[in-house]
Amino acid sequence: MAQRRYAKVINRIELNEQSVLLDCEVIDNTDLNFRGGQYLIIDTGLTTQDGKAVKRAYSILSRDDEQRQFRLAVYQIQNGKGSCHMRHLPIGGEFDFSGPWGREAPEKPLSGNVWVIASETGITSALGVINGKARKLGQINDLKLIWIKSSKAEFIPIQVLRELLPPDFNFEDFVELNLPEQGSLSLKSLAHLPYPDRAYIAGDGNLNRFVGEYLRTQNTTVTLHFEHFFNRVSS
Ligand SMILES: Cc1cc2nc3c(=O)[nH]c(=O)nc-3n(C[C@H](O)[C@H](O)[C@H](O)COP(=O)(O)OP(=O)(O)OC[C@H]3O[C@@H](n4cnc5c(N)ncnc54)[C@H](O)[C@@H]3O)c2cc1C
Repeated sequence: MAQRRYAKVINRIELNEQSVLLDCEVIDNTDLNFRGGQYLIIDTGLTTQDGKAVKRAYSILSRDDEQRQFRLAVYQIQNGKGSCHMRHLPIGGEFDFSGPWGREAPEKPLSGNVWVIASETGITSALGVINGKARKLGQINDLKLIWIKSSKAEFIPIQVLRELLPPDFNFEDFVELNLPEQGSLSLKSLAHLPYPDRAYIAGDGNLNRFVGEYLRTQNTTVTLHFEHFFNRVSS
């Protein structure tokens, strides 16, 4: 069974009506031992109507050279039990968690052309990868951060995203793609970019799979790493 650990909120930054940044600290002052791109599973202490514990995953978006304090971003889903609880955790609020989890998070220093692609809330995992040592210590030729998002759901505003990225990240390497309200996503605007050897793709499982298929048609040898936050099974 996964080891239970405890943390508390030491600061919270309201981003908008749906979203909050939570700065947290491990209570027993031990290191988390996480790598950029990994996540924790938080036990909210709540139960569903059929008696199941409401445990939800949240990615650590802060730097992995700081292991006792960490930052999460929570987007509140309408009528979502777990996210509503997390969204309203006060300063001093404690929670238990297991982890870190996430085998797909980079282990070794990154090299070559790397795309870090987020759809919707997957930007937290993408931030974790970009803020991680594997990127910092890597020999990357070309790095792109691509965020596919719908205009309906506001999560992290772009000016806040800039502040959450490391100072050595060139913001010209950030590409924002807006999901059309009708019709399907086009990735044509990415065609002029040097294609990646490796891509980390996190967020909406349906969009992740779509992007993965597109990349495979452009470069059959690309290595893909997925982290599906929701729509984990094809719909
Ligand atoms: C590996 C991993 C990392 C994650 N990291 C984060 C994170 O850093 N920040 C964060 O806010 N969430 C993250 N999530 C999602 C989070 O774990 C919860 O699923 C989410 O907060 C909703 O929980 P809920 O109990 O409120 O709603 P639920 O009752 O679990 O879900 C209600 C409905 O909303 C859908 N849904 C779930 N998440 C989303 C979403 N983001 N956008 C749109 N629809 C959604 C579900 O498919 C379901 O149909 C992550 C999930 C995974 C698997």
